[in-house]
Amino acid sequence: MRAALLLKPQKITMGTIAGPLPSPDEVVIHPDRIGICGTDISFYLGHRIVPYPFVLGHEVIGRITAVGEGVANISVGQRVIVEPNYPCGTCRLCLAGHGAVCAMKKSMGVNVPGCLSEFVVAPAEFVWPLPDSISDQDAATIEPLAVSMHALLKSGVRPGDTVCVLGCGVVGLLLIHAAVAAGVRVIAHDRLASKLEMARRLGAEIPETDEDAATLWQRREVVAVFECAGASATVELALNAAPRGSQVILLGLSSSPASFLPMRIVREGINIVSSMIYDHPADFKNVIKMVAKGALSPACVVTNTYSFEAVGEALQLASTGEAGKIHIRMA
Ligand SMILES: [Zn+2]
Ligand SMILES: [Zn+2]
Repeated sequence: MRAALLLKPQKITMGTIAGPLPSPDEVVIHPDRIGICGTDISFYLGHRIVPYPFVLGHEVIGRITAVGEGVANISVGQRVIVEPNYPCGTCRLCLAGHGAVCAMKKSMGVNVPGCLSEFVVAPAEFVWPLPDSISDQDAATIEPLAVSMHALLKSGVRPGDTVCVLGCGVVGLLLIHAAVAAGVRVIAHDRLASKLEMARRLGAEIPETDEDAATLWQRREVVAVFECAGASATVELALNAAPRGSQVILLGLSSSPASFLPMRIVREGINIVSSMIYDHPADFKNVIKMVAKGALSPACVVTNTYSFEAVGEALQLASTGEAGKIHIRMA
């Protein structure tokens, strides 16, 4: 089968590799549409290393082409989406419902082959049929929406509350989209004017004054600050400026240290919460239902669509950080 192969950092080539056969409880999918994600970019840029050649990609919708022994709930020809993180299901954390942080977790396009290829294999337990009412564009954007929704639900914010989103990449923008749909007011911050414009169109308020963040958030009674930028500067801003009694929800993946004043966190009752991807199976089930009934339309963050042959170009654009969600359409 044809596959986009990462040969070394920033070097993608179209190649031919053996197609997958389904083991028991697995299915094979022919992708229709694939979303490019920050994870793909970190491998593409060489910030994370994989054994080369490697097939990237994990945000995928497509049609079932083969099912393995024992698969009963899914059949050939069905249109599906993959929930691309597979916790082991048996460790202490999995049994306690924290599979998102399972140390044995397998993730498509991270430690098992990705979907930027003609066919991809996935465990049937993590493959969801897609209702016809969901467009391909919306469907292929469900995975990052599940990440944002998980954080929003974890924060427990309610209609009428005001929250703040730091970082308007795809996860930040989808968090704004989900929050606004839930009747939550959002103040958005980003370095890039183009991202702020997208946030504004999704219903977020963009601060115009030179008022510093701490004063603004306090004046507006912000109850939760979502750190989606994944930079130490924004983590520090969140922890040092979050209003008394509020929550700081960390979603971004910053690998550099951030400093904060523990005394302030304790004295002012700031709750620091981490939110890692989504819980299986509750979050995907919920998000698919919300998109199917038209309550959310995550395709609102898609800015560019490329052909499979142009994957290299798509990854190059994605790595500038200037686009919204980029999709690959398979022929
Ligand atoms: Zn992703
Ligand atoms: Zn586990």
